[in-house]
Amino acid sequence: MLAKINSIAVIGLGGERVEVEVDLSNGLPAFTIVGLPDKAVEESKERVRSAIKNCGCAFPQKRITVNLAPADTRKEGPSYDLPIAIGILLASEQIFFVPSKAAIIGELSLNGDLRHTNGILPAVMSVKELGFESVLIPEENSKEAAIVSNIAILAAKNLKEIVKHFRKELVLDPIPYHEYNQPEELVYEIDFSQIVGQEHAKRALEISASGGHNILMSGPPGSGKTLLAKALVSILPPLTYQEALEVTKIYSIVGELKNKTSLVSNRPYRNPHHTTSDIALIGGGKWPRPGEISLAHRGVLFLDELPEFPRHVLEVLRQPLEEGFITISRANGTLTFPAQFVLVAAQNPCPCGYATDTEKTCTCNAAQISRYQKKISGPLIDRMDIHLEVPRVKYEKLTENTVGEKSEIIRKRVLNARHRQESRFQNSDTITNSEMNLKQIKKDCFLDSDCKKLLLSASKQLGLSARSYHRILKLSRTIADLADSDNIKIEHIAESLQYRPRS
Ligand SMILES: [Zn+2]
Repeated sequence: MLAKINSIAVIGLGGERVEVEVDLSNGLPAFTIVGLPDKAVEESKERVRSAIKNCGCAFPQKRITVNLAPADTRKEGPSYDLPIAIGILLASEQIFFVPSKAAIIGELSLNGDLRHTNGILPAVMSVKELGFESVLIPEENSKEAAIVSNIAILAAKNLKEIVKHFRKELVLDPIPYHEYNQPEELVYEIDFSQIVGQEHAKRALEISASGGHNILMSGPPGSGKTLLAKALVSILPPLTYQEALEVTKIYSIVGELKNKTSLVSNRPYRNPHHTTSDIALIGGGKWPRPGEISLAHRGVLFLDELPEFPRHVLEVLRQPLEEGFITISRANGTLTFPAQFVLVAAQNPCPCGYATDTEKTCTCNAAQISRYQKKISGPLIDRMDIHLEVPRVKYEKLTENTVGEKSEIIRKRVLNARHRQESRFQNSDTITNSEMNLKQIKKDCFLDSDCKKLLLSASKQLGLSARSYHRILKLSRTIADLADSDNIKIEHIAESLQYRPRS
């Protein structure tokens, strides 16, 4: 007898239909799966065989052939265990009916328990888009799946429950839909009020958050660069529902949701170390997963000690910085993951870290310093809108009893600046000033003759490239938005020029 079960392959952040066909025939007992990569097949066979035995059913002593169709769809990961097991039980008439408008997804453990499976959120969303009426998933994934409406989502603990459900001995009720409400209060690890001094740096972060501008911070160790980077997420506007959905899909695929949350509501903050592997940083691997740069999507990517990162990794960053996604090449085609983040990079002024410090003495020679500073390529430096010197905070300042402005207050100003951008870009894909193209810059960054004069003389003095010239315009536009000003004024350009690299 031939049984057919529907399942889903998660590809990128989307999904494609996969049909699991199970055929049983007489002959020498055998178990073959076609349509899966070699190693995954062996592992899946063992889990399916044990799980069926351990749920009180019989593993048929027949020739079992499982085909995962279509052949050209990439099928990876252990999520086909459950549909294969159900297919075998249906073909061997241990259960009699599985609805044709149902999809089944899940990894089995040897004892028949359903394990937390990666990628359930994008899978369930695709199941719904493909027109299925119900989907069966592991209970461990129910929280993330609950945010999808208008489809019956059945969650089970183990294979035994599912067998009983199909035998009509047990009713699995659909899990209730969890409507998304934007949290009233956003709680982040670091609040701006906890940072003492650094007023200049805080202002730069406010501008960065308002217009989505990348920042490069230079300063000696202990000047608080990490703290500042961490605090940046706390002043970004709350995620919209769409954004939260994108972020949650990514975290679902890498299995970081752990059934604790339904929708990720905080902006992500990721700070991979410079020794992190390429795949972990950029994405890819045997079952292509998003890397750190995609886990930072819609949030902040902090690269501390930027010059220590391998050069080829920094080169790869250019695509996401320009386009907001990363393309991963694979043996059979390419795959894209979103990667739109604010890049906050930090560097020491020299290898020992103390070249610009007022308290400690630098031990590096001129050649070492020059080599260190050349490690970051020009094109990457060019993509940093804000260059910021972060000095060490004086001891007296640290012991002062003043409390800084709370993140919540700053976030309100950021939101106001974002609203101005929203109405400016309503008919385009652009969200923030940092993403403006040439046409938009021409239209929205009008300068009067005084402003033009200032900018021209500054570009001559600083030897600015055309690209840097446009960066200054975009940054000035954000500073004007923060000041609630329709026009870019002299003071906005003057402030923007402060954030150019000193050479
Ligand atoms: Zn030094």
